Amino acid sequence: MTDRDTRHKKSMQKLKSHVDEKVANAQEQRGLMLVFTGNGKGKTTAAWGTVTRALGYGYKVGVIQFIKGLWECGERERLIADDNLEVQVMATGFTWDTQNRESDTKACLEVWKEAERMLADDSVYLVVLDEITYMLKFGYLDIDAVKRAIENRPEEQTVIITGRNAHRELIAIADTVTEMQEVRHGFNNGLQARRGIDY
Ligand code: ATP
Ligand code: MG
Repeated sequence: MTDRDTRHKKSMQKLKSHVDEKVANAQEQRGLMLVFTGNGKGKTTAAWGTVTRALGYGYKVGVIQFIKGLWECGERERLIADDNLEVQVMATGFTWDTQNRESDTKACLEVWKEAERMLADDSVYLVVLDEITYMLKFGYLDIDAVKRAIENRPEEQTVIITGRNAHRELIAIADTVTEMQEVRHGFNNGLQARRGIDY
């Protein structure tokens, strides 16, 4: 064995014992709370990826789309035929278009009721609250109500929150928080959102 081989073997052994220790320490089994936030692309994509995973094992999944409800969404088109998937969309669609606080709040609270139902249903394995961070930011939803529903959800249920500027109280109660960091986004160089790639 060369020096390099020996060094590699040693560092692999170290890595293995480190990973083994971590695996041994991870004892708890329960549903998680995940937050995908930050300015970079990939938050909603990651949520739908997880939806696909859960459906792949035959679990029931609920998705609530705040804000972009009326937009096209390739993942929804592909997966909706699965009886285990329920998608609820906020009726007004894109809030920057409507600019009507009263009707937006009403639409938001209506779809939030569906979210609360899912968050109380122990047959639902995964609940995705896509773009909910903006509802809190605009004041359409109350942080205490959202926190309460999430904290009181069934033990085995996982919940995913997506959107920029996640409320610090949500970050505080999450198990896993990922911040998508924008290094570059084509949009800022004049590239249009692309069908099947961005939506
Ligand atoms: P995606 O749905 O692609 O995973 P996202 O959920 O992380 O993106 P959103 O802010 O919800 O980000 O994005 C809504 C739309 O804007 C999507 O079409 C997305 O591709 C695009 N987008 C995402 N990040 C940026 C960005 N930094 N600048 C401009 N457009 C973006
Ligand atoms: Mg998104």
